[in-house]
Amino acid sequence: MQFIDSHAHLNDPAFDQDRDRLLSDTLPRAGLCASIEIGCSPNEWQEAIDLAEKYPSLVAAVLGVHPEYAPLYKKEYLPRLQALLKHPQAVAVGEIGLDYTCLEESPKQGQQNLFVQMLDLANENQKPIVLHVRRAGEDFAAYDDCFALLKEHFKGNTQTDFPGVLHCFCARYEEAKQALDQGFLLGINGCFTYKKNDYIREAIKKVGADKIILETDCPYLSPQGKRGQRNDPSNIPLIATYVADYLNIPLEQLAQLTTKNTKALYGLP
Ligand SMILES: [Zn+2]
Ligand SMILES: [Zn+2]
Repeated sequence: MQFIDSHAHLNDPAFDQDRDRLLSDTLPRAGLCASIEIGCSPNEWQEAIDLAEKYPSLVAAVLGVHPEYAPLYKKEYLPRLQALLKHPQAVAVGEIGLDYTCLEESPKQGQQNLFVQMLDLANENQKPIVLHVRRAGEDFAAYDDCFALLKEHFKGNTQTDFPGVLHCFCARYEEAKQALDQGFLLGINGCFTYKKNDYIREAIKKVGADKIILETDCPYLSPQGKRGQRNDPSNIPLIATYVADYLNIPLEQLAQLTTKNTKALYGLP
């Protein structure tokens, strides 16, 4: 069985002691055939490409600016990002979007302006996108605003089978439906496994296994049973087991579907 972690932050300092052991030994032994590295602040772009170059058969890079970092982003950085996106292992623009849990540090208008600039960049470079959307409390406006901006500004791409993924899916079927209607996949991680998150599981039951992909978002969001520990891509089979059990399909089938969809999304061989 082969798995892919469609969203990891292995350049995080949490992995400084054992990054190479993880990539050269732990992940292949756990059945991981790829791990997609997210470089989502200007000082992470080159590091993500460096990791992809060091592990060419295992790692590909996604480059962009997270909404949390909107106040740090300057237009002068754009040519560097443009150039790095031409790298053959730069497979998508992300993670980009709207995060309404941090509006005090990163005001809404700045987040929306940045998001539109990142969508223009994806359009120009014909890349799929990795969406990060986080709501404040029970107000789902972040999703409505995100899908409205997408409709207005994102053209999709002709290079891959999907326009993008709504990563770290933590919402209801209503939000899932909006993403699916625009052709997006849903990224499922440890949040799916937490006891209190029935609403996520119920939404995914309606969505079905053929529109999801698996991710860790490590070092954060360790799945149930490993909470409080550092997360890493070798937990993907555990997350997959929760999902397969809940959807009542064989693990093998889930592995096959999610690996196929992740490869199609990022244009991986
Ligand atoms: Zn995220
Ligand atoms: Zn992330």
